Amino acid sequence: MGSLKLDHELENDSHMMVNPLDPEEFRRQGHMLIDFIADYYQNIESYKVLSQVEPGYLKKLLPESAPYYPESIETILQDVQKYIIPGITHWQSPNYFAYFPSSGSTAGFLGEILSTGFNVVGFNWMSSPAATELECIVMDWLGEMLMLPKSFLFKGNGGGVLQGTTCEAILCTLAAARDQMLNQCGSEKLEKLVVYGSDQTHSALQKAAQIAGIHTKNFRAIKTTKSNSFGLCPNSLRDAVHADVEAGLVPLFLCATVGTTSTNAIDPIGPLCEVAKDFNIWVHVDAAYAGSACICPEFRHFIDGIEGANSFTLNAHKWFLTTLDCCCLWVKDPSALIKSLSTNPEFLRNKATDSKLVVDYKDWQITLSRRFRAMKLWLVLRSYGVANLRNFLRSHVKMAKLFEELVRNDNRFEVMATRNFALVCFRVLAWPNNISAANHVEPVNELNKKLLESINESGNVYMSSTVVDGAYIIRCAIGATLTEERHVIRAWKVIQEHADALLSKN
Ligand SMILES: *Cc1c(COP(=O)(O)O)cnc(C)c1O
Repeated sequence: MGSLKLDHELENDSHMMVNPLDPEEFRRQGHMLIDFIADYYQNIESYKVLSQVEPGYLKKLLPESAPYYPESIETILQDVQKYIIPGITHWQSPNYFAYFPSSGSTAGFLGEILSTGFNVVGFNWMSSPAATELECIVMDWLGEMLMLPKSFLFKGNGGGVLQGTTCEAILCTLAAARDQMLNQCGSEKLEKLVVYGSDQTHSALQKAAQIAGIHTKNFRAIKTTKSNSFGLCPNSLRDAVHADVEAGLVPLFLCATVGTTSTNAIDPIGPLCEVAKDFNIWVHVDAAYAGSACICPEFRHFIDGIEGANSFTLNAHKWFLTTLDCCCLWVKDPSALIKSLSTNPEFLRNKATDSKLVVDYKDWQITLSRRFRAMKLWLVLRSYGVANLRNFLRSHVKMAKLFEELVRNDNRFEVMATRNFALVCFRVLAWPNNISAANHVEPVNELNKKLLESINESGNVYMSSTVVDGAYIIRCAIGATLTEERHVIRAWKVIQEHADALLSKN
């Protein structure tokens, strides 16, 4: 049945009007949906972790156009089960070890339901005071848990904001830094501005630089080395900055990373900030994944020196039980962000804003309209407490240590990067007659690619890969909420079995 029906539709179909916000219907359907999701979690291990569908699979299964007549939630949920779930990669499966985790939790889901249920649009304080004020409070709470210097908190002269993703947050801070600098040295200098990161920095920085109008020639991805554990060396930064200054360019922005995406490398924040200070460079610290761990005293040292930075981000939607999307950004100087990002159309004018006593978050981010993200973070912080959040992170690190040990105990395998948190990078080495891998880069890379493909196709576990220093590496990131030690042990068995099979073929 096509969706376009023109004849007499107004007279004949008016009896079908439903109330799209009927409380009783919501209660009924909502309970069904919660049951549906609870069942999904009960059965999650029966699904192949990595979806095995072919491109275009869904078009073959669903109708060509939207239904003209309403359909029941029962029918729709049946189709979710039949058609959607096969096309889902189960990020919440305990056997999920790819990329970084996207750790879900009951508190996160329920917080999401609350904020969606209220469905307010909190662009400024007045549009929903609770949305703004709760966000300020949870950002100070979390900032204190991380022992951020007071200068990053509302309690000091700084503050935090919840954005969608790190990509957006880096773009906003880069725009703030750019405008502050151009204000000092003249807008004609735009084409002279230089942005720095390492060759391990997330591509978010490059995207932000492109959008912010930084000349592609002025983007520096400074080389890191294995001997330096792929961290950005402060001397390399100083050399690069010196060369740029000599060439008449204007150093602007450094994105330092704590826990790089590839191997969880650490850029030394303190020493890098020292270099940056000498050149008036804005330092952003990207701790998208690893920042969460810094609520544990034993991991806090990884962000030592943060007092010298200008801005800091972590993704609560990665390893902090808070559903996507929830990027926490703290800045020391909110006025720099606001100068760059604010607009004040007449239709948004109000007394609260004019009083300057309130935060209007629309001026801290790209978009005007914004979700009530603080709700889910508030539920997570309250439902688990600092004690449990620390235990949760520690349990993943402990399991990663175990996995690393298992890898080290099998002499056909090699651990490829320092394990700082719960990511283990490794590869299989053995080759016919056990010739050392070092001289056989290509075949060893091929072998590891095949190994990863074969374990992922099995559906028993899902891991991902990276390439550093020319070596193809398998990444095992432990952090799915449901993962227990037995899953990690089983994952290792799966890898060994597939390695056995591949190596016996060679
Ligand atoms: C995941 C990640 C990002 C990107 O995060 P988004 O929120 O998806 O933009 C940036 N930097 C690092 C270090 C990451 O691990």
